Amino acid sequence: MGQFNFVQKAEIFAYSGTNCLRNEYYHNDCRRCIEICPKGAFHIVRNKLTLFDNECIECAACIGSCPTEALTIANFDPNAFTVAFREAEEKSLSCKKNTPCLGVFDVHHLITMGLRAEAAPLCDMAHCEGCALNTDGKLEARIRGTIAAANTFFAEVGMECRVETIEEKPEENTRRALFRKAFDKAKEGIAETSAEEGITLEHQRGGGAKLPLKNLLLKNAIKENLSKFAKTAFEGTSPLFFDKAVSFEACTNCGDCLQFCPTEAIFATGDKHGINFIAGNCIGCGICEDICKTDAIATKPGVDLVEMVYNRTRTLVHYEMVQCRECRCPFPYKGGDPICDRCKDFSSDFSDMFTLARDL
Ligand code: SF4
Ligand code: SF4
Ligand code: SF4
Repeated sequence: MGQFNFVQKAEIFAYSGTNCLRNEYYHNDCRRCIEICPKGAFHIVRNKLTLFDNECIECAACIGSCPTEALTIANFDPNAFTVAFREAEEKSLSCKKNTPCLGVFDVHHLITMGLRAEAAPLCDMAHCEGCALNTDGKLEARIRGTIAAANTFFAEVGMECRVETIEEKPEENTRRALFRKAFDKAKEGIAETSAEEGITLEHQRGGGAKLPLKNLLLKNAIKENLSKFAKTAFEGTSPLFFDKAVSFEACTNCGDCLQFCPTEAIFATGDKHGINFIAGNCIGCGICEDICKTDAIATKPGVDLVEMVYNRTRTLVHYEMVQCRECRCPFPYKGGDPICDRCKDFSSDFSDMFTLARDL
C-alpha cells in the first residue's frame, strides 16, 4: 500500500483511502463496501471512493466486507475480538450483546475463532429480520454467506465444528441496558487478551504490514491446527485462498503486475528475470490479472494449505535474458531466433516497406 495516510472519518468510523484497493489502483472496481452500506454513505467521486461522513451512521456493517481492512471503527476491533474469543466466556456473537452488526466480521474471523477456541461461534441472527440496516436483505445475505463459507472450510478440512445460528429472539436480550452492560464487559476482556497477545489497533493499521491482519490471524490459526485436518490440499478454486500461474510464452517480464500487488504476494526473483509468488499472501484482488497486457497471469485452481501457511515461495516464471540481435537490448528469451518482441513487431509491421526498399 502507498506511503501517504489518507483517512476520512465520521465520528468513530474511519475509512483509509491509503488501504483501499480502488484508490491504490485506478482501474480496480471493488465495490463491496458500497454495496453493503445500508445508508449509501460511500460514493465514487472522480473514480475515488469517498465517505460522506454526514450520511454514515457508524453501524460497522461494512467493515467485514473490505478485503484490505480499510474500514475501522474506534470502539470495536474484530481482530482483537477474534483473538480474545478463545478465553471469552460468551461464545455467541450478538449485536444485542457483545458486538456491533455481525457484518463487522469476515469469514477469516469466524474460521480463526473456531480453530483457536476449538468451538465455532454461535451467531445471533434473530434480529436481522426487521433490522433497519437490513432493508433490502443484502446485509443478512452477506452475513449468512460468511457463515456458510466458514462451514464449507471446516467441512473440507474434516473438522466437526460448525458456526451455528440463533434464529429466535430470546426475551431478555432485547433489553438495551443489558446489551450495553455486556458489550462494555466484552470490550474490557478484548483489551486484556489482545494486549497479552500483542494485537492492538495500531498493529492493525500500521507497522508497514502488507497483509491484512485477519489473513495473518487465519494463517496462524490454520498452522496451529494443521495436524488435526483430515485434508490439507484441495482441487478447485476457493473464495479464501488463491493460486496463480504465469504463461511462459505470454509473459514479457514487464513487471507491471509486481508493482501493483497490494500485498506483495508476487515479486521479482532475486536476479529480476522472473516472478516469485507466495500463495499465503495473495488476497485474490485480481489486480495483477487486470493489469497484465498479455493476459499472462491467471488464477489457477487448487489450494495447498501447508504451502500457504508456511509462506513458501514458488517461482511462477523465469527467463534467461539474452541480447537481441537487432537492438542489442537484453530481453526474456523464449527459444528460437534471439530477437526481442519489439523488434519482431517492428519488422513485421514494416516488412512491406523493407521489401520495397530492397527491390528499388
Ligand atoms: S471494500 Fe475496501 S477495498 Fe473495496 S472499495 Fe471499499 S474500502 Fe475500498
Ligand atoms: S505476468 Fe503480465 S504484467 Fe506480469 S510481468 Fe508478465 S507480462 Fe508483465
Ligand atoms: S497476486 Fe494478484 S490477486 Fe493476489 S494479491 Fe497480488 S495483485 Fe491481488
